[in-house]
Amino acid sequence: MSEFQGVWVFSESRDLMLELLGKGSELAKKLRVELTAVLMGRNVKDQAGRLIEHGADKVYMVADPALERFYIEPYTSALAQLVQQHKPEILLIGSTRRGRAMAPRLATRLETGCVPDCTELSIEDGRLVMSRMVYGGNALAKEICRVKPQIATVPPRVFQKLESRGRKGQVVEVDIKPEKSGTEVVETREIEAAKVKVEEAKVIVAGGRGVEKKEDFRILEDLAEILGGQIGNSRPLAEDRKWFTEWIGLSGHKVRPMLYVACGISGVIQHVAGIRDSQVIVAINKDAEAPILEVADYIVVGDLYEIVPALSSVLRRLLKGG
Ligand SMILES: Cc1cc2nc3c(=O)[nH]c(=O)nc-3n(C[C@H](O)[C@H](O)[C@H](O)COP(=O)(O)OP(=O)(O)OC[C@H]3O[C@@H](n4cnc5c(N)ncnc54)[C@H](O)[C@@H]3O)c2cc1C
Repeated sequence: MSEFQGVWVFSESRDLMLELLGKGSELAKKLRVELTAVLMGRNVKDQAGRLIEHGADKVYMVADPALERFYIEPYTSALAQLVQQHKPEILLIGSTRRGRAMAPRLATRLETGCVPDCTELSIEDGRLVMSRMVYGGNALAKEICRVKPQIATVPPRVFQKLESRGRKGQVVEVDIKPEKSGTEVVETREIEAAKVKVEEAKVIVAGGRGVEKKEDFRILEDLAEILGGQIGNSRPLAEDRKWFTEWIGLSGHKVRPMLYVACGISGVIQHVAGIRDSQVIVAINKDAEAPILEVADYIVVGDLYEIVPALSSVLRRLLKGG
């Protein structure tokens, strides 16, 4: 086991990579080992300096035309080869959609374990203790990996990035041949995307099955605009009604805005698991016994078709100073 040494981080999302470096540097300090960032892509040289400024002691850079677009096989194979050569003891991978697809494949190739969506990481007796929410967010599981490298995936905005400092580090260009991809993108089409990713929104006004028609979302959009936020939705509006392609909740986006306004959402555990880290939750529901009311900080029992426009009109007046 002692042949494994060092903490590594990888994410194709540059912001998340910096957050991983923030946590990684704490773990590396505790273990008294180096912190390494893995940078992959076609032309990525100019990005290495930023990773060093944010905590990396070393950057392994794999630059290859096969890595220009994210395909799972080339990325997984390149990282697997690098890990096999250098044997880090800990590998943190950003829990993006791509990272979540890559981490278990990597763990299988390396014959090790992988704990997904960790929200706490610590070192106990030289081992990485990985904590994650289970049972729809009702319990926290603490897990350790008996073999190395110990792989954990980490969602965005769980850990803080370090301040950028004038640091020095080593950039190592690595010559690795990634595997060819078994798939090819033949066409890309834009979907109706929100202005800001919902996970990054400071204010979210979300609708559920209480909203009767898609056009009625305009009243939620109106409130969101006044509050400088954006709209969101529960899963049935995407899966059953096909109004949207994404949703908030356990199986969708996990959000942590300053303000979450749930309109016509019952608040069953699968939805609440994705919003429980919001700073303030306001629920507007006509059922005085809806489960959302148990987690809401402010409750309005009433018809969203009356409450939401009334709220918008009061807020608009207040903001105009009228
Ligand atoms: C494995 C699994 C994963 C899942 N993951 C997710 C997930 O990630 N996210 C998610 O959202 N769901 C998820 N679900 C679905 C989840 O179980 C619920 O079915 C869903 O969240 C309910 O959505 P809703 O609150 O919009 O609808 P409903 O439960 O039907 O609630 C509608 C609410 O609107 C209220 N209402 C109706 N009319 C009005 C009105 N005019 N004014 C005010 N209030 C009104 C009602 O009182 C009710 O409380 C998952 C389910 C499974 C099995």
